[in-house]
Amino acid sequence: MLSCPNGHGEMQTSEHDRTVQFRGIDLTIRAEVYVCPTCGLEAGTIEQCAVIQDEIIDAYADHWRPSRPTMRPNAYSRMNHGR
Ligand SMILES: [Zn+2]
Repeated sequence: MLSCPNGHGEMQTSEHDRTVQFRGIDLTIRAEVYVCPTCGLEAGTIEQCAVIQDEIIDAYADHWRPSRPTMRPNAYSRMNHGR
């Protein structure tokens, strides 16, 4: 458990989606961080940072995977809009 550096006591873990930019691409990953319920300060442990790094790499790989079915409608509609 982490304690809030502002002296509010124990921080709680919170899981939420966040968007990060990696090599010029916006990736949405699920990250678990510690949040202080009093002041809302966020902190990540070294382990959590390592997990986030893995999530980014996974999401980056997914981004380029051509057989990903959810990517296809978006890619086609964007193509049709452009011309
Ligand atoms: Zn606090």
